[in-house]
Amino acid sequence: MRKSTNKARKPVKRAKIRQKQASKQASKPADPLYAMRHSCEHVLHQAFLRLYRNFKEAIGPAINEGFYIDFDPDLSGENKSPLKISEADFPRIEAEMAKIIKENLPIKRKVITSTQAKKLFKNNPYKIELIKEHGKKGEKISTYSTGKEFIALCAGPHIESTGKIGAFKLLSIAGAYWHGSEKNKMLTRIYGTCFPTQKELDDWLKQQEQAKKRDHRRLGKELELFTINDEVGQGLTIWLPKGSIIRREIEDFMVKEQIKMGYQHVYSPHIGVKSLWVKSGHWDLYREKMYSPMDVEGIEYLIKPMTCPMHIQSYTFKPRSYRDLPFRIAEIASVYRYEQSGELNGLLRVRAFTQDDAHVFCTPDQAVDEFLSVFNFIRRLYKIFGFCHYRVRLGVKSSKEKYLGSNKLWQEAEKKAISALKSSGSDFFISKGDAAFYGPKADFLIKDALGREWQCGTVQIDFMLPERFGLVYTDKDGKEKTPVMIHRAPLGSLERWLAILIENYEGAFPVWLAPVQAQIIPVADRHLEYANKVAKALKDADIRVELKDEQETVSKKIRNGELQKVPYLLIVGDREIQGNTVAVRQRGKGDLGAMLITAFISKAKKEIEEKTI
Ligand SMILES: [Zn+2]
Ligand SMILES: [Zn+2]
Repeated sequence: MRKSTNKARKPVKRAKIRQKQASKQASKPADPLYAMRHSCEHVLHQAFLRLYRNFKEAIGPAINEGFYIDFDPDLSGENKSPLKISEADFPRIEAEMAKIIKENLPIKRKVITSTQAKKLFKNNPYKIELIKEHGKKGEKISTYSTGKEFIALCAGPHIESTGKIGAFKLLSIAGAYWHGSEKNKMLTRIYGTCFPTQKELDDWLKQQEQAKKRDHRRLGKELELFTINDEVGQGLTIWLPKGSIIRREIEDFMVKEQIKMGYQHVYSPHIGVKSLWVKSGHWDLYREKMYSPMDVEGIEYLIKPMTCPMHIQSYTFKPRSYRDLPFRIAEIASVYRYEQSGELNGLLRVRAFTQDDAHVFCTPDQAVDEFLSVFNFIRRLYKIFGFCHYRVRLGVKSSKEKYLGSNKLWQEAEKKAISALKSSGSDFFISKGDAAFYGPKADFLIKDALGREWQCGTVQIDFMLPERFGLVYTDKDGKEKTPVMIHRAPLGSLERWLAILIENYEGAFPVWLAPVQAQIIPVADRHLEYANKVAKALKDADIRVELKDEQETVSKKIRNGELQKVPYLLIVGDREIQGNTVAVRQRGKGDLGAMLITAFISKAKKEIEEKTI
């Protein structure tokens, strides 16, 4: 499976994998909102020049949800002291920006020569470096001026005048390395955004507040689900006991469902000889995502970025006939891919992750049905987790990147994918360049509770790897033919899936996934014995339970249980002992009153069984 690769390093594409508002993304320069945001960045730049005479910008692009400006504080300072900006300066800068917008200054483009550009920006080493890079690539150099006082080295596009900029806001300040590399100097970055109207800006800010409350990195720590630290290494997840419970529930569920669908589960190693990856084409076309080889007794080994070539071994293990197909091999498999440290983002982008991976080997005639069956499985799964809105993106080949195989096979694979998508009845859109290097792929972009979109499941049709590995089956006519391979991962990466679940549920997992399903809170020490009895009954019924016997008040324990987002708090005192009951507090619903222990157990079991959300 492949995520977007080389393109993912540009800021615009990188933002794609982060949480984002589906409605107001402006990811392409052709988008009018993108041009407005970039123009707003120029206004910020101009405001800086009015306020701080020596100000020197390094770069200032529009990004998915706004824009930013990077500057070198040492270079931009007055009298050689660094330019120190904090959020406290924002109102003053914003006021100057508002003035420039009110002045409604025209924004004009002009193409200049590299010599002219070097002269114009001679006091700014960052711009000089960019001009040289443009020159090497033989690209045209353009400038954009705003009114008479401001000129920027810029590829554009822009809107026609500053007055056309809507509502804007400066958001935050951060450090950022020049070219994103820690070998370079640390610059100061200011983020901002703008929208056509004040209402759109306000709505977006409100949504950002909501998103902050749901941040999986913060909740992951508070709820003790996972940790990522430098001692183990960046981008490497340690699943803590409570996070591991969630993962195990999901894995068990997936395995069970897949067995019902005719999948066989296997295990494969984390490393393999380099020649395997040369044969699969990864070494040539996917190397930038792979870690360097390690030498084992003079033979080079690689840590696996994908499991496909290993699952192929289960197929080639013995001769296959048409009667063996479809042959479905599944594995909850950990893979390792190189991501730059600057690209890592909690569980959303990591260096080691676990796929709910599987490969289906089938005859070309079965491919559409198999694709469709995976497709329907994904839809059913998402519904169970509470995601009902999604879009499907069919990634096809582009002329810019390298792929395996002939055009004819690609056309055939694309035809099959499109025909499967059409018969699924789902809406889909085609995106050039989002294919895997071995075939077209359909990606599910799901929408969460805040309307943000996430790329998750994937299904891919592949005519290439079966050919490269010489896979065959004996057909009805006795002839040897090449099977088709379908690669699929409905949830994608389990790390990423956990992040999405945490944010979507705001940490309040449905009962079947909750690490602790019920807490028992005895009112006083004399109720401990009964509390233990209740705990045992629940444990015997496979309900995950915690007994809160610390020396704390009942109200404090209830508050802690609520903070930990435990679905059920069961309070036990004299009355409960008498009636053989528990006083039930349900998360989100409050006090349900007293219930017989047995009645509570059947209620909870039913919700677990039905995966109630
Ligand atoms: Zn610009
Ligand atoms: Zn695969």
